[in-house]
Amino acid sequence: MVADLAARAYFFDQGLRFACRRCGACCTGAPGTIYVAPAELAPIATCLGVTVPDLIHTYLYSFQDSYSIREDKRGRCLFFEAGCTIYEARPLQCRAFPFWFRNLRSEARWREVQRECPGIGQGPRHSREAILALAGATMTI
Ligand code: SF4
Repeated sequence: MVADLAARAYFFDQGLRFACRRCGACCTGAPGTIYVAPAELAPIATCLGVTVPDLIHTYLYSFQDSYSIREDKRGRCLFFEAGCTIYEARPLQCRAFPFWFRNLRSEARWREVQRECPGIGQGPRHSREAILALAGATMTI
C-alpha cells in the first residue's frame, strides 16, 4: 500500500517549505493522542533525568501497543512549558508534524493546517521523498 501511495502524484510533488517556529500551537491545541513508541521511552526518560517507570507513571497513559503523553485539561502536552521540555528526545509523531498523512490528504487540508502552524511556508523546502517518508512513518498514528 505504501508503495502504491509513493507512486501517485501529489500537490507537494515540488516539495513544501517548513521550518518550526517553536510557537507551541501544535502542542497546546485541541486534545489528541501523542504516540510514544517503545523505543522512544528511554531517550525521553534520560532527557528528563527520571526512570522509565517514573516517566510512564507521571506523564504517560497506555495507548495502542505503547503509550501516549498526558495532557492537561486544556489539551496542553505535559511536556510543554515555555517550550518543549523534551525537544531533543521528542517522539516521531512530534518530529514529523506537520507532515502527517492526515494533513497531506489534499492541498485544501494543508492550507487549513497552515492557518494554525506558522512554520508552514517558511524555511527550507522539504522534498516529496522526505515528506512521504515522514507521512508513511506516522500514517498509523
Ligand atoms: S505549530 Fe508549527 S511552528 Fe508552531 S510549534 Fe508546531 S510545528 Fe512548530
